[in-house]
Amino acid sequence: MKLEEIIDLDHKYYVNTFGERVPVCFESGKGLVLKSTEGKEYIDLFAGVAVSALGHSHPALVNAITEQAAKLIHCSNYYYVESQGKLAKLLVENSFADKVFFTNSGAEANEAALKLARGYYSKKGQAEKFEFVSLNHSFHGRTLATVAATGTEKYQAPFAPMPAGFKKVDANNFPQLDAAAGPSVCAIILETIMGEGGVIPLTTDYLQKVRKLCDERDILMIIDEVQTGLGRTGNLFGYEAHGVVPDIMTLAKALGGGFPMGAMLASNKAASGFAPGDHGSTYAGGPLACAAGLAAVGEIINSNLTANAKKVGEFAHAKLLELQAELPSIKEVRGQGLMIGVELTGVVAGDVKSKCFEHGYLVGIAGNNTLRLLPPLIVTEKDIQDFIPVLKLVLIELGGGN
Ligand SMILES: *Cc1c(COP(=O)(O)O)cnc(C)c1O
Repeated sequence: MKLEEIIDLDHKYYVNTFGERVPVCFESGKGLVLKSTEGKEYIDLFAGVAVSALGHSHPALVNAITEQAAKLIHCSNYYYVESQGKLAKLLVENSFADKVFFTNSGAEANEAALKLARGYYSKKGQAEKFEFVSLNHSFHGRTLATVAATGTEKYQAPFAPMPAGFKKVDANNFPQLDAAAGPSVCAIILETIMGEGGVIPLTTDYLQKVRKLCDERDILMIIDEVQTGLGRTGNLFGYEAHGVVPDIMTLAKALGGGFPMGAMLASNKAASGFAPGDHGSTYAGGPLACAAGLAAVGEIINSNLTANAKKVGEFAHAKLLELQAELPSIKEVRGQGLMIGVELTGVVAGDVKSKCFEHGYLVGIAGNNTLRLLPPLIVTEKDIQDFIPVLKLVLIELGGGN
Protein backbone atom coordinates (compact mmCIF):
# COMPACT_ATOMS: atom_id res chain seq x y z
CA MET A 1 0.00 0.00 0.00
CA LYS A 2 1.12 3.57 -0.68
CA LEU A 3 1.78 5.76 2.35
CA GLU A 4 -1.03 8.18 1.38
CA GLU A 5 -3.50 5.29 1.32
CA ILE A 6 -2.36 4.07 4.74
CA ILE A 7 -2.74 7.59 6.14
CA ASP A 8 -6.18 7.81 4.52
CA LEU A 9 -7.31 4.60 6.24
CA ASP A 10 -6.22 6.01 9.58
CA HIS A 11 -8.04 9.30 9.03
CA LYS A 12 -11.25 7.56 7.98
CA TYR A 13 -11.42 4.67 10.43
CA TYR A 14 -9.20 5.22 13.45
CA VAL A 15 -10.18 7.19 16.56
CA ASN A 16 -8.17 10.36 16.42
CA THR A 17 -6.19 10.23 19.66
CA PHE A 18 -2.77 10.51 18.05
CA GLY A 19 -3.41 13.56 15.85
CA GLU A 20 -1.12 13.99 12.85
CA ARG A 21 1.45 11.26 13.30
CA VAL A 22 4.96 11.30 11.86
CA PRO A 23 4.25 10.61 8.16
CA VAL A 24 5.79 7.18 7.85
CA CYS A 25 4.81 3.52 8.14
CA PHE A 26 7.44 0.93 9.01
CA GLU A 27 7.49 -2.43 7.35
CA SER A 28 10.50 -4.12 8.90
CA GLY A 29 13.39 -3.55 11.25
CA LYS A 30 16.74 -4.96 12.20
CA GLY A 31 18.80 -3.71 15.11
CA LEU A 32 18.57 0.08 15.16
CA VAL A 33 17.34 0.32 11.58
CA LEU A 34 13.68 0.62 10.61
CA LYS A 35 12.63 0.38 6.98
CA SER A 36 9.56 2.24 5.74
CA THR A 37 6.97 1.14 3.18
CA GLU A 38 8.58 3.74 0.88
CA GLY A 39 11.87 1.88 1.15
CA LYS A 40 13.63 4.51 3.23
CA GLU A 41 15.77 3.54 6.22
CA TYR A 42 15.74 5.28 9.59
CA ILE A 43 18.00 4.98 12.63
CA ASP A 44 15.81 4.44 15.67
CA LEU A 45 16.96 6.38 18.75
CA PHE A 46 13.53 6.17 20.40
CA ALA A 47 12.85 2.41 20.46
CA GLY A 48 9.08 2.85 20.30
CA VAL A 49 9.15 4.78 23.61
CA ALA A 50 11.79 2.68 25.38
CA VAL A 51 10.17 -0.59 24.36
CA SER A 52 12.43 -2.23 21.78
CA ALA A 53 15.37 -2.64 24.15
CA LEU A 54 16.99 -5.38 22.06
CA GLY A 55 16.53 -3.39 18.86
CA HIS A 56 14.20 -4.64 16.15
CA SER A 57 13.68 -8.29 15.26
CA HIS A 58 16.33 -9.58 17.65
CA PRO A 59 16.76 -13.30 16.82
CA ALA A 60 16.41 -14.38 20.48
CA LEU A 61 13.03 -12.65 20.72
CA VAL A 62 11.82 -13.68 17.26
CA ASN A 63 12.71 -17.33 17.93
CA ALA A 64 11.12 -17.37 21.37
CA ILE A 65 7.87 -15.87 20.06
CA THR A 66 7.61 -18.01 16.91
CA GLU A 67 8.48 -21.24 18.73
CA GLN A 68 5.96 -20.54 21.49
CA ALA A 69 3.26 -19.41 19.05
CA ALA A 70 3.60 -22.70 17.17
CA LYS A 71 3.14 -24.63 20.45
CA LEU A 72 0.55 -22.69 22.47
CA ILE A 73 -0.52 -19.04 22.41
CA HIS A 74 -3.06 -18.80 25.22
CA CYS A 75 -4.55 -20.96 27.93
CA SER A 76 -5.84 -18.54 30.70
CA ASN A 77 -4.83 -18.20 34.31
CA TYR A 78 -7.15 -20.99 35.43
CA TYR A 79 -4.17 -23.23 34.70
CA TYR A 80 -0.49 -23.18 35.65
CA VAL A 81 1.87 -21.57 33.16
CA GLU A 82 5.50 -22.76 33.24
CA SER A 83 7.06 -19.70 31.60
CA GLN A 84 5.04 -17.42 33.93
CA GLY A 85 6.71 -18.95 36.97
CA LYS A 86 10.12 -18.89 35.30
CA LEU A 87 9.91 -15.21 34.35
CA ALA A 88 8.60 -14.31 37.81
CA LYS A 89 11.60 -16.15 39.32
CA LEU A 90 14.04 -14.32 37.02
CA LEU A 91 12.59 -10.93 38.00
CA VAL A 92 12.54 -11.76 41.72
CA GLU A 93 16.13 -13.04 41.66
CA ASN A 94 17.27 -9.79 40.07
CA SER A 95 15.30 -7.28 42.16
CA PHE A 96 14.16 -6.44 45.70
CA ALA A 97 10.86 -8.23 45.11
CA ASP A 98 9.49 -11.52 46.42
CA LYS A 99 6.39 -11.80 44.23
CA VAL A 100 5.29 -10.84 40.72
CA PHE A 101 1.95 -10.27 39.01
CA PHE A 102 1.90 -9.92 35.22
CA THR A 103 -0.24 -7.46 33.25
CA ASN A 104 -0.64 -6.44 29.61
CA SER A 105 0.62 -2.87 29.89
CA GLY A 106 2.24 -0.30 32.12
CA ALA A 107 -1.05 1.31 33.06
CA GLU A 108 -2.42 -2.06 34.16
CA ALA A 109 0.72 -2.72 36.20
CA ASN A 110 0.17 0.61 37.98
CA GLU A 111 -3.54 -0.16 38.46
CA ALA A 112 -2.51 -3.39 40.12
CA ALA A 113 0.00 -1.54 42.31
CA LEU A 114 -2.57 1.06 43.42
CA LYS A 115 -5.17 -1.63 44.13
CA LEU A 116 -2.60 -3.68 46.04
CA ALA A 117 -1.75 -0.72 48.29
CA ARG A 118 -5.41 -0.15 49.18
CA GLY A 119 -5.94 -3.89 49.57
CA TYR A 120 -2.99 -4.11 51.93
CA TYR A 121 -4.43 -1.56 54.35
CA SER A 122 -8.05 -2.65 54.05
CA LYS A 123 -6.97 -6.19 55.01
CA LYS A 124 -5.23 -4.74 58.06
CA GLY A 125 -8.52 -3.08 59.03
CA GLN A 126 -7.24 0.37 58.01
CA ALA A 127 -9.55 1.17 55.10
CA GLU A 128 -9.23 4.84 56.06
CA LYS A 129 -5.75 4.70 54.50
CA PHE A 130 -6.83 5.02 50.87
CA GLU A 131 -5.13 8.14 49.49
CA PHE A 132 -2.25 8.25 47.02
CA VAL A 133 0.37 10.94 46.62
CA SER A 134 2.07 11.34 43.25
CA LEU A 135 4.17 14.02 41.58
CA ASN A 136 3.35 16.91 39.29
CA HIS A 137 4.64 16.09 35.78
CA SER A 138 4.62 12.36 36.50
CA PHE A 139 3.12 9.85 34.08
CA HIS A 140 1.52 6.60 35.20
CA GLY A 141 -0.90 5.67 32.40
CA ARG A 142 -4.23 6.39 30.75
CA THR A 143 -6.78 4.35 32.70
CA LEU A 144 -8.94 6.35 35.08
CA ALA A 145 -6.95 5.52 38.21
CA THR A 146 -3.54 5.88 36.58
CA VAL A 147 -4.51 9.10 34.82
CA ALA A 148 -5.70 10.38 38.21
CA ALA A 149 -2.22 9.58 39.55
CA THR A 150 -0.59 11.25 36.53
CA GLY A 151 0.59 14.79 37.19
CA THR A 152 -0.66 16.42 33.99
CA GLU A 153 -4.05 18.06 34.31
CA LYS A 154 -4.85 18.18 30.61
CA TYR A 155 -4.96 14.36 30.52
CA GLN A 156 -7.63 14.42 33.24
CA ALA A 157 -9.77 17.46 32.47
CA PRO A 158 -12.05 15.96 29.77
CA PHE A 159 -12.84 12.94 31.95
CA ALA A 160 -13.77 14.52 35.26
CA PRO A 161 -14.58 13.55 37.90
CA MET A 162 -11.41 11.62 38.58
CA PRO A 163 -11.49 8.70 41.05
CA ALA A 164 -11.17 10.02 44.61
CA GLY A 165 -8.01 9.93 46.69
CA PHE A 166 -5.21 11.27 44.49
CA LYS A 167 -3.01 14.14 45.70
CA LYS A 168 -0.13 15.83 43.87
CA VAL A 169 3.07 17.42 45.07
CA ASP A 170 6.11 18.89 43.30
CA ALA A 171 9.05 16.62 42.53
CA ASN A 172 12.15 16.94 44.71
CA ASN A 173 10.24 19.10 47.20
CA PHE A 174 10.29 17.10 50.40
CA PRO A 175 8.48 19.61 52.65
CA GLN A 176 5.46 19.45 50.28
CA LEU A 177 5.41 15.67 50.43
CA ASP A 178 5.89 15.71 54.18
CA ALA A 179 2.81 17.93 54.50
CA ALA A 180 0.72 15.84 52.09
CA ALA A 181 1.56 12.44 53.59
CA GLY A 182 -1.06 12.37 56.31
CA PRO A 183 -2.61 9.35 58.07
CA SER A 184 -5.04 8.66 55.20
CA VAL A 185 -2.21 8.08 52.68
CA CYS A 186 -1.63 4.42 51.75
CA ALA A 187 1.03 4.88 49.07
CA ILE A 188 3.36 7.29 47.35
CA ILE A 189 3.96 6.53 43.66
CA LEU A 190 6.86 8.00 41.71
CA GLU A 191 9.31 7.45 38.84
CA THR A 192 13.04 7.77 39.63
CA ILE A 193 13.33 9.78 36.40
CA MET A 194 10.08 11.29 35.12
CA GLY A 195 10.13 10.25 31.47
CA GLU A 196 7.04 11.71 29.82
CA GLY A 197 7.33 14.73 32.10
CA GLY A 198 10.57 15.75 30.38
CA VAL A 199 13.31 13.40 31.67
CA ILE A 200 13.35 14.96 35.14
CA PRO A 201 15.44 12.98 37.65
CA LEU A 202 14.53 12.70 41.31
CA THR A 203 17.51 13.29 43.58
CA THR A 204 19.00 10.58 45.79
CA ASP A 205 18.43 12.78 48.81
CA TYR A 206 14.73 13.14 47.97
CA LEU A 207 14.22 9.43 47.30
CA GLN A 208 15.95 8.47 50.54
CA LYS A 209 13.78 10.91 52.46
CA VAL A 210 10.68 9.48 50.81
CA ARG A 211 11.72 5.97 51.84
CA LYS A 212 12.30 7.07 55.42
CA LEU A 213 8.98 8.89 55.56
CA CYS A 214 7.18 5.80 54.22
CA ASP A 215 8.79 3.65 56.91
CA GLU A 216 7.99 6.10 59.70
CA ARG A 217 4.34 6.67 58.71
CA ASP A 218 3.49 3.17 57.49
CA ILE A 219 3.03 4.15 53.83
CA LEU A 220 3.89 1.92 50.86
CA MET A 221 6.44 3.22 48.36
CA ILE A 222 5.57 2.39 44.76
CA ILE A 223 8.25 3.02 42.14
CA ASP A 224 6.96 3.13 38.58
CA GLU A 225 9.86 1.69 36.59
CA VAL A 226 7.83 1.19 33.42
CA GLN A 227 10.26 3.44 31.53
CA THR A 228 13.37 3.46 33.76
CA GLY A 229 13.40 -0.28 34.40
CA LEU A 230 15.29 -3.19 32.85
CA GLY A 231 18.65 -1.61 32.14
CA ARG A 232 17.73 1.69 30.57
CA THR A 233 19.33 3.96 33.18
CA GLY A 234 22.55 1.95 33.42
CA ASN A 235 21.23 -0.04 36.37
CA LEU A 236 18.81 -2.92 35.99
CA PHE A 237 16.31 -0.79 37.93
CA GLY A 238 16.35 2.95 38.50
CA TYR A 239 16.04 2.65 42.29
CA GLU A 240 19.42 0.89 42.52
CA ALA A 241 21.25 4.16 41.87
CA HIS A 242 19.76 5.74 44.99
CA GLY A 243 20.18 3.17 47.73
CA VAL A 244 16.44 2.84 48.23
CA VAL A 245 14.17 -0.14 47.84
CA PRO A 246 10.45 0.22 47.10
CA ASP A 247 7.65 -1.95 48.47
CA ILE A 248 6.08 -2.24 45.03
CA MET A 249 7.56 -1.71 41.56
CA THR A 250 5.94 -1.70 38.16
CA LEU A 251 7.45 -2.67 34.81
CA ALA A 252 6.30 -2.81 31.18
CA LYS A 253 7.82 -1.27 28.02
CA ALA A 254 11.11 -3.23 27.67
CA LEU A 255 9.73 -6.25 29.54
CA GLY A 256 8.39 -8.04 26.46
CA GLY A 257 10.95 -6.46 24.13
CA GLY A 258 8.03 -5.20 22.03
CA PHE A 259 5.46 -7.83 22.93
CA PRO A 260 2.81 -6.12 25.10
CA MET A 261 3.48 -7.02 28.68
CA GLY A 262 3.72 -5.43 32.12
CA ALA A 263 4.42 -6.57 35.66
CA MET A 264 3.85 -5.53 39.24
CA LEU A 265 6.51 -6.68 41.68
CA ALA A 266 6.13 -6.57 45.44
CA SER A 267 7.71 -7.56 48.72
CA ASN A 268 5.99 -10.44 50.50
CA LYS A 269 4.57 -7.91 52.95
CA ALA A 270 2.96 -5.71 50.27
CA ALA A 271 1.90 -8.72 48.17
CA SER A 272 -0.32 -9.84 51.05
CA GLY A 273 -2.66 -7.03 49.97
CA PHE A 274 -4.15 -9.38 47.36
CA ALA A 275 -6.03 -12.53 48.33
CA PRO A 276 -7.43 -15.05 45.84
CA GLY A 277 -10.16 -13.40 43.77
CA ASP A 278 -9.02 -9.83 44.50
CA HIS A 279 -7.40 -9.22 41.13
CA GLY A 280 -6.92 -10.97 37.82
CA SER A 281 -6.47 -10.79 34.08
CA THR A 282 -7.63 -12.92 31.18
CA TYR A 283 -4.53 -12.56 29.04
CA ALA A 284 -1.77 -11.41 31.34
CA GLY A 285 1.19 -13.66 31.95
CA GLY A 286 0.14 -16.01 29.17
CA PRO A 287 2.54 -18.44 27.48
CA LEU A 288 3.34 -16.17 24.52
CA ALA A 289 3.94 -13.00 26.56
CA CYS A 290 6.09 -14.85 29.09
CA ALA A 291 8.15 -16.51 26.36
CA ALA A 292 8.81 -13.02 24.99
CA GLY A 293 9.58 -11.69 28.47
CA LEU A 294 12.00 -14.54 29.22
CA ALA A 295 13.83 -13.86 25.96
CA ALA A 296 13.93 -10.07 26.42
CA VAL A 297 14.91 -10.00 30.10
CA GLY A 298 17.26 -12.96 29.59
CA GLU A 299 19.03 -11.11 26.79
CA ILE A 300 19.25 -7.85 28.78
CA ILE A 301 20.86 -9.72 31.67
CA ASN A 302 23.02 -12.25 29.79
CA SER A 303 24.37 -9.81 27.21
CA ASN A 304 24.90 -7.22 29.93
CA LEU A 305 22.92 -4.57 28.08
CA THR A 306 22.67 -2.65 31.35
CA ALA A 307 26.44 -2.07 31.29
CA ASN A 308 26.19 -1.04 27.64
CA ALA A 309 23.44 1.43 28.53
CA LYS A 310 25.72 2.91 31.19
CA LYS A 311 28.77 3.11 28.93
CA VAL A 312 27.06 4.44 25.79
CA GLY A 313 24.82 6.65 27.91
CA GLU A 314 27.85 8.32 29.51
CA PHE A 315 29.39 8.76 26.07
CA ALA A 316 26.19 10.34 24.70
CA HIS A 317 25.93 12.61 27.73
CA ALA A 318 29.53 13.81 27.25
CA LYS A 319 29.00 14.41 23.52
CA LEU A 320 25.80 16.34 24.17
CA LEU A 321 27.54 18.48 26.77
CA GLU A 322 30.24 19.26 24.18
CA LEU A 323 27.50 20.28 21.78
CA GLN A 324 25.88 22.39 24.50
CA ALA A 325 29.17 24.32 24.85
CA GLU A 326 28.94 25.12 21.12
CA LEU A 327 25.23 25.81 20.70
CA PRO A 328 23.16 28.22 22.82
CA SER A 329 19.96 26.33 21.87
CA ILE A 330 20.85 23.46 24.23
CA LYS A 331 19.72 24.58 27.66
CA GLU A 332 20.29 21.42 29.67
CA VAL A 333 21.23 17.77 29.19
CA ARG A 334 19.45 15.48 31.68
CA GLY A 335 18.94 11.83 32.48
CA GLN A 336 20.96 8.73 33.11
CA GLY A 337 22.18 5.90 30.91
CA LEU A 338 20.11 5.69 27.75
CA MET A 339 17.27 7.81 29.11
CA ILE A 340 18.38 11.21 27.85
CA GLY A 341 16.59 14.55 27.73
CA VAL A 342 17.98 17.60 25.93
CA GLU A 343 16.05 20.70 26.93
CA LEU A 344 16.09 23.26 24.15
CA THR A 345 15.65 27.00 24.07
CA GLY A 346 14.98 29.29 21.12
CA VAL A 347 14.06 26.30 18.95
CA VAL A 348 10.97 24.10 19.20
CA ALA A 349 11.69 20.49 20.22
CA GLY A 350 8.92 19.25 17.89
CA ASP A 351 10.64 20.97 14.94
CA VAL A 352 13.94 19.37 15.89
CA LYS A 353 12.22 15.98 15.96
CA SER A 354 10.74 16.59 12.49
CA LYS A 355 14.08 17.71 11.04
CA CYS A 356 15.88 14.72 12.57
CA PHE A 357 13.25 12.55 10.88
CA GLU A 358 14.00 14.21 7.53
CA HIS A 359 17.65 13.33 8.14
CA GLY A 360 16.71 9.70 8.84
CA TYR A 361 16.70 9.68 12.66
CA LEU A 362 13.82 8.81 14.98
CA VAL A 363 13.86 10.75 18.25
CA GLY A 364 11.13 11.81 20.68
CA ILE A 365 10.06 14.83 22.66
CA ALA A 366 8.74 15.20 26.20
CA GLY A 367 7.70 17.71 28.81
CA ASN A 368 8.90 21.25 28.49
CA ASN A 369 10.57 21.62 25.03
CA THR A 370 12.79 18.62 25.62
CA LEU A 371 14.22 16.34 22.97
CA ARG A 372 14.19 12.76 24.20
CA LEU A 373 16.54 9.95 23.27
CA LEU A 374 15.63 6.40 24.30
CA PRO A 375 17.67 4.23 21.94
CA PRO A 376 17.60 0.44 22.03
CA LEU A 377 20.02 -0.81 24.70
CA ILE A 378 22.19 -2.35 21.96
CA VAL A 379 23.13 1.11 20.62
CA THR A 380 26.88 1.70 20.18
CA GLU A 381 29.14 4.72 20.72
CA LYS A 382 29.55 4.83 16.95
CA ASP A 383 25.77 5.20 16.51
CA ILE A 384 25.81 8.18 18.88
CA GLN A 385 28.95 9.60 17.28
CA ASP A 386 27.14 9.53 13.91
CA PHE A 387 24.05 11.23 15.30
CA ILE A 388 25.75 14.20 17.00
CA PRO A 389 26.69 16.08 13.77
CA VAL A 390 23.15 15.51 12.48
CA LEU A 391 21.67 17.04 15.62
CA LYS A 392 24.13 19.92 15.36
CA LEU A 393 23.19 20.54 11.75
CA VAL A 394 19.47 20.41 12.60
CA LEU A 395 19.82 22.88 15.48
CA ILE A 396 21.81 25.27 13.26
CA GLU A 397 19.27 24.86 10.42
CA LEU A 398 16.54 25.87 12.86
CA GLY A 399 18.46 28.95 13.97
CA GLY A 400 19.79 27.46 17.17
CA GLY A 401 23.46 28.14 16.36
CA ASN A 402 25.51 31.10 17.46
C1 LIG B 1 4.65 4.42 29.36
C2 LIG B 1 4.48 4.57 30.81
C3 LIG B 1 3.33 4.09 31.47
C4 LIG B 1 2.13 3.52 30.74
O1 LIG B 1 2.42 2.34 30.07
P1 LIG B 1 1.35 1.79 29.00
O2 LIG B 1 1.93 0.45 28.61
O3 LIG B 1 1.29 2.76 27.88
O4 LIG B 1 0.06 1.66 29.70
C5 LIG B 1 3.28 4.19 32.85
N1 LIG B 1 4.29 4.73 33.54
C6 LIG B 1 5.41 5.20 32.95
C7 LIG B 1 6.51 5.77 33.78
C8 LIG B 1 5.53 5.15 31.56
O5 LIG B 1 6.62 5.65 30.98
